[in-house]
Amino acid sequence: MSASRYPSSILTINLSAVAANWRLLQDRAGPGAQCAAVVKADAYGLGVDRVAPALWDAGCRSFFVALVDEALRLRKILPQAAIHVLNGLDPDAEAEYAQHRLVPVLGSLSEIKAYCSFARRRGKLLPAAIHIDTAMSRLGLPPSEVEALAASSDCLQNISLTYILSHLACADEPESPLNFEQLSCFSNAIKRLGLAVGAAGASLANSSGIFLGEQYHLDLLRPGSSLYGINPQPGEVNPMAQVVRLQGKILQVREIDSPKTVGYGATFQARGRTRLATVAAGYADGYLRSLSNKGSAFLGDVRVPIAGRVSMDLTIFDISQAPEEMAVPGGFIDLIGPANPVDSLAFDAGTIGYEILTALGSRYGRVYVDEKAPV
Ligand SMILES: *Cc1c(COP(=O)(O)O)cnc(C)c1O
Repeated sequence: MSASRYPSSILTINLSAVAANWRLLQDRAGPGAQCAAVVKADAYGLGVDRVAPALWDAGCRSFFVALVDEALRLRKILPQAAIHVLNGLDPDAEAEYAQHRLVPVLGSLSEIKAYCSFARRRGKLLPAAIHIDTAMSRLGLPPSEVEALAASSDCLQNISLTYILSHLACADEPESPLNFEQLSCFSNAIKRLGLAVGAAGASLANSSGIFLGEQYHLDLLRPGSSLYGINPQPGEVNPMAQVVRLQGKILQVREIDSPKTVGYGATFQARGRTRLATVAAGYADGYLRSLSNKGSAFLGDVRVPIAGRVSMDLTIFDISQAPEEMAVPGGFIDLIGPANPVDSLAFDAGTIGYEILTALGSRYGRVYVDEKAPV
Protein backbone atom coordinates (compact mmCIF):
# COMPACT_ATOMS: atom_id res chain seq x y z
CA MET A 1 0.00 0.00 0.00
CA SER A 2 1.17 3.54 -0.65
CA ALA A 3 2.27 6.06 1.91
CA SER A 4 -1.15 7.71 2.04
CA ARG A 5 -2.87 6.88 5.33
CA TYR A 6 -6.43 6.99 4.10
CA PRO A 7 -6.31 6.14 0.42
CA SER A 8 -9.66 6.12 -1.29
CA SER A 9 -9.29 4.86 -4.84
CA ILE A 10 -6.80 2.08 -5.42
CA LEU A 11 -4.24 1.58 -8.17
CA THR A 12 -2.97 -1.99 -8.39
CA ILE A 13 0.15 -2.67 -10.44
CA ASN A 14 0.92 -6.26 -11.28
CA LEU A 15 4.71 -6.66 -11.37
CA SER A 16 4.44 -10.31 -12.39
CA ALA A 17 2.56 -9.18 -15.49
CA VAL A 18 5.33 -6.66 -16.27
CA ALA A 19 7.90 -9.45 -15.96
CA ALA A 20 5.80 -11.80 -18.11
CA ASN A 21 5.45 -9.10 -20.77
CA TRP A 22 9.21 -8.57 -20.88
CA ARG A 23 9.79 -12.33 -21.22
CA LEU A 24 7.23 -12.54 -24.01
CA LEU A 25 9.09 -9.84 -25.95
CA GLN A 26 12.52 -11.36 -25.27
CA ASP A 27 11.15 -14.70 -26.52
CA ARG A 28 9.95 -13.00 -29.71
CA ALA A 29 13.32 -11.38 -30.30
CA GLY A 30 15.11 -12.46 -33.45
CA PRO A 31 18.32 -14.46 -33.15
CA GLY A 32 20.98 -12.43 -31.38
CA ALA A 33 18.60 -9.65 -30.36
CA GLN A 34 18.38 -8.59 -26.73
CA CYS A 35 15.32 -7.03 -25.16
CA ALA A 36 15.87 -3.84 -23.12
CA ALA A 37 13.22 -1.94 -21.15
CA VAL A 38 12.24 1.71 -21.42
CA VAL A 39 11.45 2.98 -17.93
CA LYS A 40 11.37 6.74 -18.54
CA ALA A 41 8.75 8.92 -16.81
CA ASP A 42 8.78 6.79 -13.66
CA ALA A 43 8.21 3.62 -15.69
CA TYR A 44 5.30 5.24 -17.55
CA GLY A 45 3.82 6.37 -14.25
CA LEU A 46 3.82 2.94 -12.63
CA GLY A 47 6.75 3.47 -10.25
CA VAL A 48 10.30 2.79 -11.39
CA ASP A 49 11.37 1.79 -7.86
CA ARG A 50 9.20 -1.29 -8.10
CA VAL A 51 9.05 -1.88 -11.84
CA ALA A 52 12.80 -1.79 -12.57
CA PRO A 53 13.75 -4.50 -10.02
CA ALA A 54 10.92 -6.70 -11.34
CA LEU A 55 12.33 -6.34 -14.86
CA TRP A 56 15.86 -7.05 -13.63
CA ASP A 57 14.63 -10.22 -11.89
CA ALA A 58 12.97 -11.27 -15.13
CA GLY A 59 16.38 -11.08 -16.83
CA CYS A 60 16.44 -7.57 -18.31
CA ARG A 61 19.88 -5.97 -18.13
CA SER A 62 19.56 -2.89 -20.33
CA PHE A 63 17.39 0.11 -19.49
CA PHE A 64 16.47 3.40 -21.15
CA VAL A 65 15.33 6.60 -19.47
CA ALA A 66 14.81 10.11 -20.86
CA LEU A 67 16.54 12.32 -18.30
CA VAL A 68 19.80 12.32 -16.36
CA ASP A 69 17.82 12.64 -13.13
CA GLU A 70 15.87 9.51 -14.03
CA ALA A 71 19.14 7.72 -14.78
CA LEU A 72 20.66 8.71 -11.44
CA ARG A 73 17.59 7.43 -9.63
CA LEU A 74 17.68 4.19 -11.60
CA ARG A 75 21.39 3.73 -10.88
CA LYS A 76 20.55 3.64 -7.16
CA ILE A 77 17.91 0.99 -7.78
CA LEU A 78 19.95 -1.14 -10.19
CA PRO A 79 23.69 -0.81 -9.52
CA GLN A 80 24.62 -3.27 -12.31
CA ALA A 81 22.28 -2.31 -15.13
CA ALA A 82 23.28 -0.72 -18.43
CA ILE A 83 21.51 2.64 -18.45
CA HIS A 84 21.05 4.77 -21.56
CA VAL A 85 19.79 8.35 -21.39
CA LEU A 86 17.61 9.06 -24.43
CA ASN A 87 17.31 12.84 -24.31
CA GLY A 88 20.88 13.42 -25.40
CA LEU A 89 23.81 15.06 -23.69
CA ASP A 90 23.11 17.45 -20.85
CA PRO A 91 26.28 19.60 -20.85
CA ASP A 92 25.80 20.46 -17.17
CA ALA A 93 25.79 16.78 -16.21
CA GLU A 94 28.82 15.48 -18.16
CA ALA A 95 30.61 14.34 -15.03
CA GLU A 96 27.56 12.36 -13.87
CA TYR A 97 27.59 10.10 -16.94
CA ALA A 98 31.16 9.06 -16.29
CA GLN A 99 30.84 8.77 -12.55
CA HIS A 100 27.62 6.71 -12.59
CA ARG A 101 28.28 4.73 -15.77
CA LEU A 102 25.35 6.32 -17.60
CA VAL A 103 25.40 6.15 -21.37
CA PRO A 104 24.23 9.29 -23.15
CA VAL A 105 22.39 8.80 -26.41
CA LEU A 106 24.12 11.52 -28.44
CA GLY A 107 21.65 13.15 -30.77
CA SER A 108 23.65 15.63 -32.83
CA LEU A 109 27.13 16.21 -34.16
CA SER A 110 27.69 18.96 -31.60
CA GLU A 111 26.76 16.59 -28.76
CA ILE A 112 29.17 14.01 -30.15
CA LYS A 113 31.95 16.58 -30.33
CA ALA A 114 31.22 17.86 -26.84
CA TYR A 115 31.25 14.37 -25.31
CA CYS A 116 34.41 13.40 -27.19
CA SER A 117 36.23 16.42 -25.92
CA PHE A 118 34.98 15.70 -22.39
CA ALA A 119 36.31 12.14 -22.72
CA ARG A 120 39.61 13.47 -24.03
CA ARG A 121 39.92 15.85 -21.10
CA ARG A 122 39.19 12.94 -18.79
CA GLY A 123 41.78 10.84 -20.61
CA LYS A 124 39.25 8.03 -20.80
CA LEU A 125 37.31 6.03 -23.34
CA LEU A 126 33.64 6.68 -22.48
CA PRO A 127 30.63 4.69 -23.68
CA ALA A 128 27.94 6.48 -25.68
CA ALA A 129 25.19 5.68 -28.16
CA ILE A 130 24.38 7.66 -31.27
CA HIS A 131 20.85 8.52 -32.34
CA ILE A 132 20.17 8.83 -36.06
CA ASP A 133 17.06 10.69 -37.19
CA THR A 134 15.25 8.71 -39.88
CA ALA A 135 11.83 10.43 -39.84
CA MET A 136 10.96 11.94 -36.48
CA SER A 137 12.79 15.27 -36.87
CA ARG A 138 12.98 15.31 -33.10
CA LEU A 139 16.36 14.16 -31.83
CA GLY A 140 19.15 12.47 -33.70
CA LEU A 141 21.61 13.19 -36.50
CA PRO A 142 19.95 14.24 -39.75
CA PRO A 143 21.46 12.81 -42.98
CA SER A 144 23.81 15.77 -43.41
CA GLU A 145 25.31 15.17 -39.97
CA VAL A 146 25.63 11.43 -40.66
CA GLU A 147 27.69 12.37 -43.73
CA ALA A 148 29.79 14.79 -41.73
CA LEU A 149 30.41 12.18 -39.06
CA ALA A 150 31.31 9.54 -41.66
CA ALA A 151 33.82 11.99 -43.14
CA SER A 152 35.48 12.72 -39.82
CA SER A 153 35.49 9.49 -37.88
CA ASP A 154 38.20 10.78 -35.53
CA CYS A 155 35.25 12.58 -33.93
CA LEU A 156 34.59 9.30 -32.17
CA GLN A 157 38.12 8.61 -30.97
CA ASN A 158 37.41 8.79 -27.27
CA ILE A 159 34.02 7.16 -27.46
CA SER A 160 33.24 3.48 -27.24
CA LEU A 161 29.96 3.15 -29.11
CA THR A 162 27.38 0.90 -27.47
CA TYR A 163 24.54 1.27 -29.97
CA ILE A 164 23.46 3.24 -32.96
CA LEU A 165 19.75 3.80 -32.66
CA SER A 166 16.81 5.33 -34.41
CA HIS A 167 13.11 5.60 -33.62
CA LEU A 168 10.09 4.64 -35.74
CA ALA A 169 7.37 7.21 -36.37
CA CYS A 170 4.51 4.88 -37.43
CA ALA A 171 5.36 1.51 -35.92
CA ASP A 172 1.75 1.10 -34.76
CA GLU A 173 0.62 1.35 -38.39
CA PRO A 174 2.13 -1.78 -39.98
CA GLU A 175 0.82 -0.75 -43.41
CA SER A 176 2.71 2.54 -43.39
CA PRO A 177 5.47 2.58 -46.03
CA LEU A 178 7.44 4.83 -43.70
CA ASN A 179 8.41 1.85 -41.53
CA PHE A 180 10.44 0.18 -44.25
CA GLU A 181 11.77 3.51 -45.47
CA GLN A 182 13.10 4.21 -41.99
CA LEU A 183 14.64 0.75 -41.74
CA SER A 184 16.43 1.28 -45.08
CA CYS A 185 17.52 4.78 -44.17
CA PHE A 186 18.84 3.48 -40.84
CA SER A 187 20.71 0.59 -42.47
CA ASN A 188 22.28 2.98 -44.97
CA ALA A 189 23.37 5.35 -42.23
CA ILE A 190 24.96 2.45 -40.33
CA LYS A 191 26.77 1.37 -43.50
CA ARG A 192 27.91 4.92 -44.10
CA LEU A 193 29.36 5.02 -40.58
CA GLY A 194 30.66 1.47 -40.89
CA LEU A 195 34.31 2.22 -40.29
CA ALA A 196 33.71 4.39 -37.31
CA VAL A 197 31.25 2.29 -35.39
CA GLY A 198 33.28 -0.83 -34.76
CA ALA A 199 31.41 -3.21 -32.53
CA ALA A 200 28.35 -1.08 -31.85
CA GLY A 201 24.94 -2.73 -32.04
CA ALA A 202 21.89 -1.36 -33.80
CA SER A 203 18.52 -0.65 -32.22
CA LEU A 204 15.32 0.51 -33.89
CA ALA A 205 12.21 -1.20 -32.54
CA ASN A 206 9.96 0.21 -29.82
CA SER A 207 7.00 -1.92 -28.68
CA SER A 208 5.04 -1.78 -31.93
CA GLY A 209 8.24 -2.01 -33.97
CA ILE A 210 8.90 -5.44 -32.47
CA PHE A 211 5.66 -6.66 -34.06
CA LEU A 212 6.60 -5.39 -37.53
CA GLY A 213 8.81 -8.47 -37.93
CA GLU A 214 12.25 -9.79 -37.17
CA GLN A 215 14.01 -7.59 -39.71
CA TYR A 216 13.23 -4.65 -37.40
CA HIS A 217 14.76 -6.35 -34.34
CA LEU A 218 18.45 -5.83 -35.16
CA ASP A 219 20.52 -6.10 -31.93
CA LEU A 220 18.39 -4.47 -29.25
CA LEU A 221 14.63 -4.08 -28.72
CA ARG A 222 13.47 -0.99 -26.84
CA PRO A 223 9.92 -1.63 -25.63
CA GLY A 224 8.20 0.60 -23.10
CA SER A 225 4.41 0.74 -23.37
CA SER A 226 3.88 -2.97 -24.10
CA LEU A 227 5.67 -3.92 -20.88
CA TYR A 228 2.93 -2.00 -19.08
CA GLY A 229 0.07 -3.72 -20.91
CA ILE A 230 -0.59 -1.26 -23.74
CA ASN A 231 -1.47 -3.04 -26.97
CA PRO A 232 1.47 -2.80 -29.41
CA GLN A 233 -0.85 -3.82 -32.26
CA PRO A 234 -3.86 -1.50 -32.08
CA GLY A 235 -6.93 -3.08 -33.62
CA GLU A 236 -5.72 -6.61 -32.99
CA VAL A 237 -5.99 -8.87 -29.95
CA ASN A 238 -3.61 -7.57 -27.29
CA PRO A 239 -0.84 -10.13 -26.74
CA MET A 240 0.33 -8.38 -23.56
CA ALA A 241 -0.84 -9.13 -20.01
CA GLN A 242 -2.79 -6.37 -18.26
CA VAL A 243 -0.68 -4.66 -15.63
CA VAL A 244 -2.92 -1.94 -14.20
CA ARG A 245 -6.19 -2.02 -12.34
CA LEU A 246 -7.71 1.21 -11.08
CA GLN A 247 -10.56 0.87 -8.63
CA GLY A 248 -12.54 4.00 -7.88
CA LYS A 249 -14.02 4.20 -4.42
CA ILE A 250 -17.75 4.88 -4.29
CA LEU A 251 -18.43 7.72 -1.86
CA GLN A 252 -22.17 8.07 -2.31
CA VAL A 253 -24.99 6.37 -4.14
CA ARG A 254 -28.16 8.32 -4.84
CA GLU A 255 -31.40 7.64 -6.56
CA ILE A 256 -33.11 10.29 -8.61
CA ASP A 257 -36.75 9.99 -9.57
CA SER A 258 -37.56 13.44 -10.89
CA PRO A 259 -35.68 15.19 -13.75
CA LYS A 260 -32.43 16.63 -12.48
CA THR A 261 -29.04 17.75 -13.73
CA VAL A 262 -25.72 16.10 -12.89
CA GLY A 263 -22.35 17.78 -12.38
CA TYR A 264 -20.72 21.02 -13.56
CA GLY A 265 -22.34 22.76 -16.47
CA ALA A 266 -25.45 20.59 -15.99
CA THR A 267 -24.42 18.68 -19.11
CA PHE A 268 -26.19 15.48 -18.09
CA GLN A 269 -29.94 15.33 -17.48
CA ALA A 270 -31.26 12.43 -15.48
CA ARG A 271 -34.78 11.60 -16.68
CA GLY A 272 -36.89 9.05 -14.93
CA ARG A 273 -35.49 6.79 -12.27
CA THR A 274 -31.71 6.95 -12.26
CA ARG A 275 -29.14 5.65 -9.79
CA LEU A 276 -25.89 7.55 -9.56
CA ALA A 277 -22.60 6.72 -7.85
CA THR A 278 -20.12 9.44 -6.95
CA VAL A 279 -16.55 8.11 -7.15
CA ALA A 280 -13.31 9.49 -5.69
CA ALA A 281 -11.29 10.11 -8.84
CA GLY A 282 -11.12 13.14 -11.08
CA TYR A 283 -8.87 14.97 -13.46
CA ALA A 284 -6.41 15.79 -10.66
CA ASP A 285 -5.84 12.02 -10.52
CA GLY A 286 -5.33 11.73 -14.25
CA TYR A 287 -8.90 10.61 -14.84
CA LEU A 288 -9.08 12.89 -17.83
CA ARG A 289 -11.76 15.54 -18.16
CA SER A 290 -12.14 14.62 -21.83
CA LEU A 291 -13.90 11.47 -20.57
CA SER A 292 -16.86 13.64 -19.54
CA ASN A 293 -20.12 12.08 -20.83
CA LYS A 294 -18.00 9.67 -22.94
CA GLY A 295 -16.08 7.22 -20.80
CA SER A 296 -17.38 4.42 -18.65
CA ALA A 297 -16.36 2.15 -15.83
CA PHE A 298 -17.41 -1.37 -14.92
CA LEU A 299 -19.22 -2.86 -11.96
CA GLY A 300 -18.33 -6.49 -12.46
CA ASP A 301 -19.21 -6.97 -16.12
CA VAL A 302 -21.83 -4.22 -16.20
CA ARG A 303 -20.78 -1.10 -18.05
CA VAL A 304 -21.63 2.09 -16.15
CA PRO A 305 -21.25 5.32 -18.14
CA ILE A 306 -19.90 8.59 -16.81
CA ALA A 307 -22.76 11.02 -16.14
CA GLY A 308 -21.80 14.64 -16.78
CA ARG A 309 -18.39 16.20 -16.46
CA VAL A 310 -15.41 14.71 -14.71
CA SER A 311 -14.48 17.16 -11.96
CA MET A 312 -11.20 17.61 -10.10
CA ASP A 313 -11.67 15.00 -7.38
CA LEU A 314 -14.91 13.29 -8.31
CA THR A 315 -16.69 11.56 -11.16
CA ILE A 316 -20.34 10.53 -11.25
CA PHE A 317 -21.45 7.29 -12.90
CA ASP A 318 -24.90 6.24 -14.02
CA ILE A 319 -25.20 2.86 -12.32
CA SER A 320 -28.88 2.29 -13.12
CA GLN A 321 -28.05 -0.91 -15.04
CA ALA A 322 -25.96 -2.47 -12.26
CA PRO A 323 -27.43 -4.75 -9.57
CA GLU A 324 -28.12 -2.65 -6.48
CA GLU A 325 -26.04 -4.75 -4.12
CA MET A 326 -22.95 -4.21 -6.27
CA ALA A 327 -22.81 -0.44 -5.80
CA VAL A 328 -22.58 0.65 -2.19
CA PRO A 329 -20.66 3.46 -0.51
CA GLY A 330 -17.19 2.17 0.35
CA GLY A 331 -17.32 -0.26 -2.55
CA PHE A 332 -15.26 0.01 -5.74
CA ILE A 333 -15.85 0.27 -9.43
CA ASP A 334 -13.26 -0.53 -12.08
CA LEU A 335 -12.11 2.64 -13.81
CA ILE A 336 -9.41 0.50 -15.44
CA GLY A 337 -9.87 -3.23 -15.17
CA PRO A 338 -10.33 -6.52 -16.97
CA ALA A 339 -13.39 -5.27 -18.90
CA ASN A 340 -11.98 -1.81 -19.68
CA PRO A 341 -8.23 -1.91 -20.21
CA VAL A 342 -6.04 1.18 -20.46
CA ASP A 343 -6.42 1.28 -24.25
CA SER A 344 -10.25 1.45 -24.10
CA LEU A 345 -10.19 4.24 -21.54
CA ALA A 346 -7.68 6.07 -23.73
CA PHE A 347 -9.93 5.65 -26.77
CA ASP A 348 -12.90 7.13 -24.87
CA ALA A 349 -10.72 10.05 -23.74
CA GLY A 350 -9.51 10.70 -27.29
CA THR A 351 -5.91 9.88 -26.43
CA ILE A 352 -3.47 6.97 -26.19
CA GLY A 353 -2.78 4.55 -23.35
CA TYR A 354 0.63 6.15 -22.84
CA GLU A 355 -1.01 9.38 -21.73
CA ILE A 356 -3.45 7.60 -19.42
CA LEU A 357 -0.62 5.77 -17.63
CA THR A 358 1.76 8.70 -17.34
CA ALA A 359 -1.08 10.90 -16.06
CA LEU A 360 -2.05 8.54 -13.22
CA GLY A 361 -2.01 10.74 -10.16
CA SER A 362 -0.23 10.45 -6.85
CA ARG A 363 -3.36 10.31 -4.67
CA TYR A 364 -4.27 6.68 -5.28
CA GLY A 365 -3.44 4.00 -2.79
CA ARG A 366 -0.83 2.05 -4.73
CA VAL A 367 -0.71 -1.70 -4.37
CA TYR A 368 2.03 -3.75 -6.03
CA VAL A 369 1.28 -7.38 -6.71
CA ASP A 370 4.18 -9.75 -7.24
CA GLU A 371 3.40 -13.43 -7.32
CA LYS A 372 6.94 -14.25 -6.28
CA ALA A 373 6.87 -12.00 -3.22
CA PRO A 374 3.30 -11.21 -2.15
CA VAL A 375 2.97 -7.72 -0.65
C1 LIG B 1 9.74 6.05 -25.42
C2 LIG B 1 10.69 5.48 -26.40
C3 LIG B 1 10.70 4.10 -26.65
C4 LIG B 1 9.64 3.16 -26.10
O1 LIG B 1 8.50 3.26 -26.94
P1 LIG B 1 7.17 2.41 -26.70
O2 LIG B 1 6.31 2.80 -27.85
O3 LIG B 1 6.62 2.87 -25.39
O4 LIG B 1 7.54 0.98 -26.68
C5 LIG B 1 11.72 3.59 -27.44
N1 LIG B 1 12.64 4.41 -28.00
C6 LIG B 1 12.63 5.75 -27.82
C7 LIG B 1 13.66 6.59 -28.48
C8 LIG B 1 11.65 6.32 -27.03
O5 LIG B 1 11.62 7.65 -26.87
